[in-house]
Amino acid sequence: MIEIAGVIKRFGANTVLDGIDLRIAPGEVVSILGASGSGKSTLIRCINGLEKLDGGAISVDGHRVDDPNGLRQARRSCGTVFQLFNLYPHMTALQNITLAPIEVLKVPRRQAEEEARELLAAVGLLERADAWPAQLSGGQRQRVGICRALAMKPRYLLLDEVTSALDPEMTAEVLAILGKLARSGTTMLFVTHEIEFARHISNRIVFLDGGRLLADLPAAHFFAQDGGMAQPRIAQFLS
Ligand code: ADP
Ligand code: MG
Repeated sequence: MIEIAGVIKRFGANTVLDGIDLRIAPGEVVSILGASGSGKSTLIRCINGLEKLDGGAISVDGHRVDDPNGLRQARRSCGTVFQLFNLYPHMTALQNITLAPIEVLKVPRRQAEEEARELLAAVGLLERADAWPAQLSGGQRQRVGICRALAMKPRYLLLDEVTSALDPEMTAEVLAILGKLARSGTTMLFVTHEIEFARHISNRIVFLDGGRLLADLPAAHFFAQDGGMAQPRIAQFLS
């Protein structure tokens, strides 16, 4: 379980997260919607311990991220993929995927490579294993990025607008992979602008507005006139 309780985050005088409470249980797919600047990326960064909290607490399977030992455990449990393709440019697709399993988990190289090839095959990129990031399309790079996160066998997958820099065709490629992962029971916290897709794959939809959590509803209810849509801010966002 990822537990976010009363989280406050400020940048100077700007309160970017203003008392966020959210729980993500194993097996759930939770999408976070909200306008640009509403605090979505900051929330993901807080879960990863990349930002220091000004209030409240976050724990991952009971490991507090404000404690160095807890953070190490929490990071082990959370695989994260960001919007920008953050593959190591001087490593092939395969090397990008095997680096952390070999260095951090001490998986033997042969086994790490075998598992990486299985992941690449699952996203339709087995034949690109030895390509450099610069030789891959944006959609292919994001698919490698997803493989890299999955190679650590995370309990939770955090995705921050992983398709927003992609054209529609590449977006579809990546969403197809995420849909498959969601259906196979991968726990996901999914920040996205792909509203229709979120509606289909999510158990719950969370809506952030100016650092406040305006809704945390079952997906169907979020889009219902007497559900999330009853809130003017959400109706306006969805229109
Ligand atoms: P979103 O991902 O929903 O677009 P962000 O979490 O990136 O929103 O940003 C939320 C707010 O926090 C914005 O007003 C943004 O300008 C501000 N912000 C984010 N990161 C920093 C930072 N490192 N320093 C100062 N302000 C920041
Ligand atoms: Mg963002």
